[in-house]
Amino acid sequence: MKTLGLIGGMSWESTAEYYRHLNELTRERLGGLHSAPLVLYSVDFATVERLQAEGRWEEAGALLAEAARALQAAGAELLLICTNTMHKVADQVAAAVRVPLLHLADATARAARTAGLRRVGLLGTAFTMEQDFYRGRLAAGGLDVLVPDPEGRALVHRVIYQELCLGVVREESRAAYRRVIEDLVAAGAEGIVLGCTEIELLVRPEDSPVPLFPTARLHAEAAVEAALAGGGTD
Ligand code: GLU
Repeated sequence: MKTLGLIGGMSWESTAEYYRHLNELTRERLGGLHSAPLVLYSVDFATVERLQAEGRWEEAGALLAEAARALQAAGAELLLICTNTMHKVADQVAAAVRVPLLHLADATARAARTAGLRRVGLLGTAFTMEQDFYRGRLAAGGLDVLVPDPEGRALVHRVIYQELCLGVVREESRAAYRRVIEDLVAAGAEGIVLGCTEIELLVRPEDSPVPLFPTARLHAEAAVEAALAGGGTD
């Protein structure tokens, strides 16, 4: 099995889930005491969040590119950026290293298409829901992407940064997300992409009338598959 390199800490609440998923999936595939060989570079999320809010993406990309180089030097053979939002700088990160980067949106699009879906609702940070770097990649993967209205987007974004990234899971927020999901389904969504790696800490399958696509879990599944197959994508 290839050694995975995780660029994490964005937030660490979801990186911890990645760690658990990767190890559980590896044990399921290989049995016994097998666990995932991996290296983790966990950044200070306060720094990243400030760069995001100030639109300093080039600097944020440089920070993650440095992490990628460190992971490569430590023996990583397949890299994961453990956040949807920071895939905005995925090209900058990929260009900094020789080892392949497994793109989260590709893994997500593949899962939704394999499930037979064409039109999905997307929940994530405002960056992810409103900008093309993620929506465009899902569209290139064969999906029509719906996002909540401005009020819904503001709510989803606020809960991510003010609650979930701080480890706070509130029943009121779960109910609010449920309403946003219902609106997306009423607008034609056949599935919901939980396009922020913390949302799956809040929203469970029973909160949605249509299938959910939890991106941390899907990314981990794709990573284990690629690491065992000796594959990967750029
Ligand atoms: N983990 C979140 C995501 O998947 C948001 C945190 C971040 O801004 O990176 O987009």
